[in-house]
Amino acid sequence: MKNPKHIGHLRSALVTGLLATLAAGASYALIGSDNNLAPPDVSQATYPLLLPKHSSASLPKPDTEQTEAPHRTTHWVKPGETLQQIFAHLTLSPDDLRDVLNSGAAAHALKMLTPGRILMLQTQADDRLEKLVYQQTPVQSIIVQRGHKGFTVELSEHNVDRELTRVSSTIHNSLLHDGRRAGLSNKLIMQLADIFGWDVDFAQDLREGDRFTVIYELLYVNGEATGTGDILAAEFINQGKTYQALRYTNEQGHTDYYTAAGQGLQKAFLRTPVEYAHISSYFSLARKHPILNTIRAHKGVDYAAAVGTPVRSTGSGRIAFMGQQSGYGNVVVVEHNTKYSTLYGHLSRFGSLKKGSPVRQGEIIGYVGQTGLATGPHLHYEFHVDGEHKDPLTVALPQTEPLKSRQMAAFRQHTLSYITELARFRRVSVAQND
Ligand SMILES: [Zn+2]
Repeated sequence: MKNPKHIGHLRSALVTGLLATLAAGASYALIGSDNNLAPPDVSQATYPLLLPKHSSASLPKPDTEQTEAPHRTTHWVKPGETLQQIFAHLTLSPDDLRDVLNSGAAAHALKMLTPGRILMLQTQADDRLEKLVYQQTPVQSIIVQRGHKGFTVELSEHNVDRELTRVSSTIHNSLLHDGRRAGLSNKLIMQLADIFGWDVDFAQDLREGDRFTVIYELLYVNGEATGTGDILAAEFINQGKTYQALRYTNEQGHTDYYTAAGQGLQKAFLRTPVEYAHISSYFSLARKHPILNTIRAHKGVDYAAAVGTPVRSTGSGRIAFMGQQSGYGNVVVVEHNTKYSTLYGHLSRFGSLKKGSPVRQGEIIGYVGQTGLATGPHLHYEFHVDGEHKDPLTVALPQTEPLKSRQMAAFRQHTLSYITELARFRRVSVAQND
């Protein structure tokens, strides 16, 4: 790895869902020794996936509008254009406009049109609007139709074809860089990092030669590629350790990613409580204290970060302590259950929560500071199991509920082809690396 910190930006963006920061991470990560020409270590395959088609709605077909129906107009929305302007341009009634916009909640999206999307308007001989179809997303349209009691609105899904695609590649630089090199979109790279973010710290753990394989859907609307669907299965080999993720919807209708053994990938705890930080001091049972100059245990991890950087609770629970503790300055302790608690020290100030408040995973509980005995702004983070200090970076994080044994047969049947496919790609890539 040239500069692992760059991945930290990616991870932070991913973990917190801050899409905007991805661009910053991207500009870093793309500066590398690799070029973007056909990478020899990327393998890819696409093949049709036989899935039942979604119920289809008639999408406006631009090339047939003029001949087939003289009162139908197809309009491509221009940047900044409003439905009001389009109605005025086509000399349609402002009353119809008002009634269309008030036809129901689904019509609210018509108040903010997206440039480039198609709007189809069908009128009667007297220029009264009969029907409006707006392609809200590549796979969904808003249909407003005149009925006996005025306009009614409904949402309709398009004819979507799905194709399975697999991509496999080696990490040379960062997940973002090498994911893009393999042809993955930013969206898929973020999904991938979200899926494995519970096990792999993309800021600290990535190594040259790590590998990933992703099986995902390509979506086609009326034969045209419109984007990517979900990641159905993925594998990440990090420092020789293999992690697998299989997408599955359980009996309760909840979709999640599981290991082949049916264990949910999502952990009850986040690995890190701060974004944009680097580790300035590790967990150690004998460390020379930087200020006291004595040998003492450092029973936590220090994350150096700018004063004011948000500190997030790594797990859900309740604020058990909020106040001063000698040495650690402003401290928050979150009690997650009877077994687990976490401590956050040297905070500049606290978040809006109070002592005793429930706290959700990822919720801001304070801000990085330098209160207490600290040589610079950083977060002191501790992880306690049954009252004992554990290294937050290596402690086995408790997982969410695994699939029930009675669900395992259906799960195995559903995921078998993906597991086979992932294994096949692994053999191919090993052969290539030899
Ligand atoms: Zn510390």
